[in-house]
Amino acid sequence: MVDFIGIERIQELVARRGVARFIEELAGEIEADFLRWGVFDKSPRHATHSPLGVIELMPASDGRLYAFKYVNGHPKNTAVGLLTVTAFGVLADVQTGYPLLLAELTLTTALRTAATSALAARRMARPDSRVMALIGNGAQSEFQTIAFHHMLGIREVRLYDTDAGASAKLEHNLARLQLPDLRVLRCGSSAEAVQGADIVTTVTADKRNATILTPPMISAGMHLNAVGGDCPGKTELHPDILRRADVRVVVEYEPQSRIEGEIQQMGAAFPVIELAALLAGQAPGRGGDREVTIFDSVGFALEDFSSLRYLLRIHHEERGAQQQIDLLPDLDDPKDLFALLLPEPRKLAARPGVAA
Ligand code: NAD
Repeated sequence: MVDFIGIERIQELVARRGVARFIEELAGEIEADFLRWGVFDKSPRHATHSPLGVIELMPASDGRLYAFKYVNGHPKNTAVGLLTVTAFGVLADVQTGYPLLLAELTLTTALRTAATSALAARRMARPDSRVMALIGNGAQSEFQTIAFHHMLGIREVRLYDTDAGASAKLEHNLARLQLPDLRVLRCGSSAEAVQGADIVTTVTADKRNATILTPPMISAGMHLNAVGGDCPGKTELHPDILRRADVRVVVEYEPQSRIEGEIQQMGAAFPVIELAALLAGQAPGRGGDREVTIFDSVGFALEDFSSLRYLLRIHHEERGAQQQIDLLPDLDDPKDLFALLLPEPRKLAARPGVAA
């Protein structure tokens, strides 16, 4: 049997902790794994592109556990009532190759992306940052707001989306959450939203080289958390922002970000810092109060590895709807697979799970 975490179970696990605490704990797991950067088997994700979107496979392993995520990105899906991004993943035991956990990763991707954004921003944004502009108010936006409110101390969030309905949804959800001391302002344009912001999060979905932010919108000392540009030909920043003399760019995994990140618009020699070096204190996140810092987020498999391991641990710890599925044959004689197809197949015995 294989542990299973579906939507109901993740709702239960998040509700037990609260979204903010869940994100913070997840950030701790992700940070701990980035500090073990050298032990991981890493590769850029495998992307299968089509005219309307992309389907990606994201593997990572530390030699003891192996994880992969299946994730899609289809910006036009919302027009037909479907999510832009859905995902699921598997955690497996390297010694036997047996899967330990099959889990939903749609909600978990939103949680881990916000956690990683906040981890980077804690080392890159000015410590006195209190105002964040949030451009793109779709599925990821509440998660980003909660992470930056809880982990960075953001006290004003300025919303803009080309779809006014998305901003209204975000405003409504944030009002229901009653986050302490958070002022929420709807703005009429991206330019209005970024005016006076310390941090700008872009989390839009459009399969093209969009220019959500242009050079005149950027002021000295801003931190840009660029989340939505995550595929070849899908970016959010005007390249002249990256060409500024006073810019510092952090990426998750350089070989993947050169293909998928904002930096795909720059030459191969464009200097970047990897998140692992930033978190290990090997490279500073900011060179002074006036520098413009950019976290060029695309999402890396290690964040999903950490998430799956964390999910399996709390799934075992927390009572409730613990579910297992019969994904694998469990045989008395492992060479007798065909026994399962004989006229009177043997009843499956429960196999104890392996602890992550
Ligand atoms: P979504 O479709 O739910 O929301 C995207 C929002 O962007 C929509 O409301 C849309 O109206 C808005 N938008 C599009 N163009 C805009 C523009 N020019 N100005 C302002 N708003 C605009 O998608 P989502 O699930 O919130 O994901 C957002 C983006 O983040 C996607 O591109 C997705 O691929 C990316 N993403 C990245 C990571 C990562 O790790 N970096 C993780 C998850 C999602």
